[in-house]
Amino acid sequence: NESNLQYRRVILKLSGESLADSGGRGISSQEMGEIANQIKQAHESGCQIAIVVGGGNILRGAQFSGSNALVQEATAHYMGMLATMINSLAMQDAIERTGLSTRVMSAVPMDKIAETFIRRRAIRHLEKGRVIILAAGIGNPFVTTDTAAAQRALEIDADVVLKATRVDGVYSDDPEKNPHAVLYDSLTFRDVTEKQLRVMDATAIALCAEHDKPILVFNFKKSGSIVRAVNGETVGTWIGA
Ligand code: UDP
Repeated sequence: NESNLQYRRVILKLSGESLADSGGRGISSQEMGEIANQIKQAHESGCQIAIVVGGGNILRGAQFSGSNALVQEATAHYMGMLATMINSLAMQDAIERTGLSTRVMSAVPMDKIAETFIRRRAIRHLEKGRVIILAAGIGNPFVTTDTAAAQRALEIDADVVLKATRVDGVYSDDPEKNPHAVLYDSLTFRDVTEKQLRVMDATAIALCAEHDKPILVFNFKKSGSIVRAVNGETVGTWIGA
């Protein structure tokens, strides 16, 4: 039965860099358009989609505070949360261009710009077929949007965290540096911790492990990969209990 393979509800984690040109900065219409088209197709297959957008193409708190002596680290993290809002608004328009209905929901209230994230309202939007875009992470400094993706996946009871990356999945070493790095088909949470594999940040992994929420790391650059991922086809690396 094919419908058993398909996820009912997913969290899609898009890094800020995935919206950027190859240099990793700024916001590219071309990149956003391609992602939006894939989201449209994935949604057509009947899946409820909540997107957590990062801000790394604009600013990451830890990096920024390291290079700017005048800005405290906590301040820089709030700046990073605002960066995710900038990306979320851009993604909203890109996705609505495909004909889908969307809502941006912010973890930090910004009521002139977006709704505030309220769990039950978020679920209601999904049930009505809207794609929700979750901005400002979890609204607290010193974590990243990976943690937000895990946290929201638990809250809205998503079936899986889909972590979109530029590489095909999780490797034994950085594949962009080591040509002998091996790609894993599947891993347990324990493997990830023991082998110190870089999948998502440690808080995100701990949350998913504790609550048995699987993660699929896959290459969103391969055409159709988001659709295949929500259909439960084998793409990337599966991480589960
Ligand atoms: N951030 C935060 N709290 C959150 C989510 C994000 O403080 O709940 C800040 C943090 O500084 C982070 C930045 O926002 O570095 C941008 O998010 P992230 O680095 O996750 O973006 P990505 O790497 O996915 O583009």
